Amino acid sequence: MAQLSLRDVRKNFKGTEVLRGIDLEIGDRELVVFVGPSGCGKSTLLRMIAGLDDMTSGEFLLNGASMRDVPPSRRGIAMVFQSYALYPHMDVYENMAFGARLQGLDKDEVDRRIQEAARMLRLEPLLKRKPRELSGGQRQRVAIGRALTRKPEVFLLDEPLSNLDAALRSDVRLEIAKLHEDIGGTMIYVTHDQVEAMTLADKIVVMNAGRIEQVGAPRELYERPANTFVATFIGSPR
Ligand code: ADP
Ligand code: MG
Repeated sequence: MAQLSLRDVRKNFKGTEVLRGIDLEIGDRELVVFVGPSGCGKSTLLRMIAGLDDMTSGEFLLNGASMRDVPPSRRGIAMVFQSYALYPHMDVYENMAFGARLQGLDKDEVDRRIQEAARMLRLEPLLKRKPRELSGGQRQRVAIGRALTRKPEVFLLDEPLSNLDAALRSDVRLEIAKLHEDIGGTMIYVTHDQVEAMTLADKIVVMNAGRIEQVGAPRELYERPANTFVATFIGSPR
């Protein structure tokens, strides 16, 4: 089970309020998409959830337990970054093994998980290659595979398609939807692209300037936008 609660989460950077009181409940196994214009605080919020940065105030609970003093490696949360952040000197196998080894898993278990992730993501023929020998789409799949190998309860994906060309983007988008079905975990997917949001999400969270404007199913946002910002952003005919 992975249920997330954010309570009045705020973040200041040098006196500027970047997150201005975020309240949100995310249910077990949901695929939630955070959408909003560049600079509205999506990545910052994701980093708080992953534990990569502290919040200025507020609380984040996972399955009812406060994560305040829980380090990233103990949260059961894995994040896939926009830039992939692969280790250039390691081959695909080593890249995928890295996080799982940090969790203290033995060699055989790590190997089993890598083979399983590689099968799921069609990376089996590429395990000995270095990142520079891969295409953008393949690198992105390795980044996803590396997160998958940790068997997280919660998957965070920050604009995972933004470095891919249009054709690949729809392929990888389908893969991500399928992955969510296969692994059955909770997934938070960040994008500034409303089409991506509308096609992927169980639930969309529309953000603007550090606040949540509306939360709802894609159709709900389209048919009943809460305000002009949501209507304009989602492109509904209001
Ligand atoms: P998004 O992911 O929605 O594009 P971000 O969360 O990256 O937005 O950034 C939100 C705001 O916080 C932006 O104005 C950005 O410049 C600012 N910001 C993000 N990280 C830092 C940081 N480490 N120091 C100062 N300002 C930051
Ligand atoms: Mg961002």
